[in-house]
Order: sequence, then C-alpha cells, then structure tokens
Amino acid sequence: MGFKARARANQTKTEEDEKKKDAKTGKEPCGVNGCEGWADSTMGGRSLSVTDAEDMWGKSVVVRKNRVRVCKSCYRSWKKTNKQEDYY
Ligand SMILES: [Zn+2]
Repeated sequence: MGFKARARANQTKTEEDEKKKDAKTGKEPCGVNGCEGWADSTMGGRSLSVTDAEDMWGKSVVVRKNRVRVCKSCYRSWKKTNKQEDYY
C-alpha cells in the first residue's frame, strides 16, 4: 500500500539532490580543513596569504603556491576578524 508513495518520494529527493549538486559544484575546493565550500573565483572564492590564513585557522589550511584558496563564507569570516581596511 505504501509502496507507490515511497517510490514517488524517492524520485523527488533524487531530483532535488541533483539540482543542488549542479548549483554547488566548483573546481577549487576551499583550503580550510573541514569546510566543504568552493573557492572558485566564479563562486566568490578568494585567496589569502599563508600568514593571513594561518592567523585565522592555524595549520588546518591547504597551501598552494604560497596562497590559501578559501570559499566566500570563509573569506567573509576572515574579513570580519581582520577588518583593518573597513574599520576606522
Ligand atoms: Zn571555506
């Protein structure tokens, strides 16, 4: 009796999952360990200097070519903590 309802529910879920994946897939993973964001510049990612990144996250960052690529939300939390430019 509940079979059809369950089958339909599964189908809907799969479609939603695929949509989510499409919208969120980037090429450059965020360099902060434990963060699942994307650091692609098209997705708002930024690169920080190693010093800046380590000040914020310690050694749990992935360094590439002396820069740490971070996603938009990591960059924003870094900026909040280091607001020397915007703060008077
Ligand atoms: Zn991140």
